[in-house]
Amino acid sequence: MSANRRFRNLIRIGPVQVGTAYDHHGREKHTAACTAPRCGFSADYDSRAAAELAARTHRCPAR
Ligand SMILES: [Zn+2]
Repeated sequence: MSANRRFRNLIRIGPVQVGTAYDHHGREKHTAACTAPRCGFSADYDSRAAAELAARTHRCPAR
C-alpha cells in the first residue's frame, strides 16, 4: 500500500485496517489494507460500506 496517504477514520477489523483518504483527484477513497506481513492485501473502494465489508470478509492467507 502507499505509505504517504493520510487516512481519516482509520479503524481495524481483524487484521485489516480501513481508512478514508483523498486520492490525487481529490475524491474520497476508502481503502482496506491487511496488516499481516505476508498477506499484502490492499484495495480501494468507492464506499465506506464496501471497504468495511471487504475487511470483514477478508480471509487472510498469512494467518
Ligand atoms: Zn490478510
